[in-house]
Amino acid sequence: MLIRNHKLAPYTTWNIGGPAAFFFQPDSLELLQKFLCEYKDQEIFWLGAGSNILVSDKGFDGVIIYPKNILQECFVSGKYIEVGASVSISTFLHVALKYGLTGCEFMVGIPGTIGGALFMNAGAHGGQIWDRVSLVRTIDKNGSIHERNCDDFVVSYRRVINKMSQEWFLSAKLRLDKGDSKIAIQSMREFMQHRIKNHPCLLPSCGSVFRNPKPLSAAQLIESAGLKGLQIGGAQVSPKHANFIVNLGNATANDVLRIIDHIKKEVYAKFSVELETEVKFIGDK
Ligand SMILES: Cc1cc2nc3c(=O)[nH]c(=O)nc-3n(C[C@H](O)[C@H](O)[C@H](O)COP(=O)(O)OP(=O)(O)OC[C@H]3O[C@@H](n4cnc5c(N)ncnc54)[C@H](O)[C@@H]3O)c2cc1C
Repeated sequence: MLIRNHKLAPYTTWNIGGPAAFFFQPDSLELLQKFLCEYKDQEIFWLGAGSNILVSDKGFDGVIIYPKNILQECFVSGKYIEVGASVSISTFLHVALKYGLTGCEFMVGIPGTIGGALFMNAGAHGGQIWDRVSLVRTIDKNGSIHERNCDDFVVSYRRVINKMSQEWFLSAKLRLDKGDSKIAIQSMREFMQHRIKNHPCLLPSCGSVFRNPKPLSAAQLIESAGLKGLQIGGAQVSPKHANFIVNLGNATANDVLRIIDHIKKEVYAKFSVELETEVKFIGDK
């Protein structure tokens, strides 16, 4: 299904942003391959659960690929789970638990898809998804499918670079451990309690806006700069966690960008640290 001029805000956890010129939701991998061949000269943006993106108020003058109806497989074989890019992290963790496979509990509460997690090298509590990747299947802009191993990527904190070409993830084969589901459930409960206690879970956000300038913490720098609670328009630096910017109800992308800009300037002025955004911006600023 191809839709023109389709509003993107409902597809983001921030609930912000204008329309995409083209929005393609394929019903099969073959249709996706055909579409990519036809539209390969357009700017393409692959959308997962929209939990780490900020869409411009003016929208995006390109093609959004939204593969929610495909890439939903989850096959278990021994200690491996082959999981499609559109599978949510929570579904993946349910499957892992059902088969007594552990090691990815740290991902509990991350509201994205496996594809988004692979692209971002999502992680928490000292774990990151690429520590568990055995191989991935990708698709390039001509619609050709590839099987790639970890050596084909440069993986670091919240950043993954494909050495080969521009490709998107179709699935990953993840290596887990045979473990005790009861212990895994207990760890996940503790991780969730930590999130509920420390994150503004009731308001729309995209999680942490800035990468941590390791060994420093972006949240601590922003808080020390006295910016907790700062509000511009409908966007606010969360009073609960300074690295979250929340949408109080009617925030625009411009409000969020102004806060981001202000934080960067203040943190640089006070601590000489250049903060870098983790969230991906789409469209025209
Ligand atoms: C409340 C909250 C808490 C969060 N906590 C954490 C956390 O603890 N740790 C953490 O790492 N992140 C966290 N995040 C951020 C976010 O959930 C992760 O970055 C997640 O991995 C993004 O997945 P997504 O499917 O939503 O991707 P999207 O936001 O849709 O996309 C993010 C990027 O991934 C790309 N992408 C998506 N799918 C694919 C694909 N199949 N192939 C290639 N590229 C793709 C997109 O093009 C985009 O550049 C949090 C977000 C929220 C809202």
